[in-house]
Amino acid sequence: TESLASRDPELFGSITDELGRQRDEIELIASENIVSAAVMEAQGSVLTNKYAEGYPGRRYYGGCQYVDVAENLAIDRAKQLFGCEFVNVQPNSGSQANQGAFNALIKPGDTILGMNLASGGHLTHGAAPNQSGKWFNAVQYGVRKQDQLIDYDEVQALATEHQPKLIIAGGSAIPRQIDFAKFREIADSVGAYLMVDMAHFAGLVAAGEHPSPFPYADVATTTTHKTLRGPRGGMILTNNADIAKKVNSAIFPGIQGGPLMHVIAAKAVAFGEALRPEFKTYQKQVRANAVALADQLMKGGLDIVTGGTDTHVMLVDLRPKGVKGNATEKALGRAHITANKNGIPFDPEKPMVTSGLRLGTPAGTTRGFGEAEFRQIADWIVEVVDGLAANGEEGNAEVEAKVKAEVAELCARFPMYDNL
Ligand code: PLP
Repeated sequence: TESLASRDPELFGSITDELGRQRDEIELIASENIVSAAVMEAQGSVLTNKYAEGYPGRRYYGGCQYVDVAENLAIDRAKQLFGCEFVNVQPNSGSQANQGAFNALIKPGDTILGMNLASGGHLTHGAAPNQSGKWFNAVQYGVRKQDQLIDYDEVQALATEHQPKLIIAGGSAIPRQIDFAKFREIADSVGAYLMVDMAHFAGLVAAGEHPSPFPYADVATTTTHKTLRGPRGGMILTNNADIAKKVNSAIFPGIQGGPLMHVIAAKAVAFGEALRPEFKTYQKQVRANAVALADQLMKGGLDIVTGGTDTHVMLVDLRPKGVKGNATEKALGRAHITANKNGIPFDPEKPMVTSGLRLGTPAGTTRGFGEAEFRQIADWIVEVVDGLAANGEEGNAEVEAKVKAEVAELCARFPMYDNL
């Protein structure tokens, strides 16, 4: 019963410092969100003590009757949210969800076709340093130079040439909606499975603010912690009973042992929240805020890849101001605005430098920011970037200090985790 603060003050300090950072700074990292106290309560519960290898009703351990309730709630709610028949809520992360789907459907040495990192794909979609790029013959598609949109003709041509067993749609920096029907057509033309990795936009899909991967995808994978606003974790969904069976054995015993029952319980809580009408309002606002942020940044003289966004995420092209992604990330950090540098399509800079910045609205929207606040944030970003443009990498300290003070005022008006 000893509190964490007295048992381990050193570790406790890191948590209170992180809470302070989240409270005092504006979070624009597109893959992050702010979970409810209820989600954290489930994740911090006694369910962490329980071994439950297997699936509800078919476990390899005794005493699983209560964690079965939690896992069934997570499964049933996820099915309802995404209108699909089979869900595996056990993947420990988005990467393991993808690994699980591969393990279920293909074999090492098989050909896969996914989007390249530079165009907005994810490491696990066949990038060379990732297992997916090492164990499979990974062929990669990109976006078109003239409009930075997915080049479906290229996807079709690569599919015809390389005959992949599995095609992946989805990624980590795709601001526009993906044409799942088109991907299905391409997959069918070569007899490939279609896997949609909806990690980034799953929350939008759940709220009807983005087209669903179903009925087009054979399998959909996702994280649960981005727009979906749950605990850190992954999930695999399908409408095909045979694939569902393969997915279950691919996750356990294929690549995981005991499921994280406390995290699965927290997933159930988050899915319950996502089934409420407020979640639709939230996701609508996430998109409206993204449109406002992109529009105001363009008014400030920055470019937005594809000229805007249909989702929660955008890629800022910093080249009109002559500044780099790495220096911008640092300068914004000094002003208490958190974002990540990101390569833009055909980026002339190296991945550790970049010409771009990835911004997202899920966390700020959860906090309560509306379009007015996001337009204000865009103005601050432009001020900080202009400071870099005028002074080089050290930026304009005066401007950064002024913005930091204004950020503090905004954050104070939108308090979070009041009860912690
Ligand atoms: N898939 C996509 C599209 C992602 O953006 C991410 C996370 O960045 C992942 C998979 C991997 O998720 P995780 O970080 O939980 O392994």
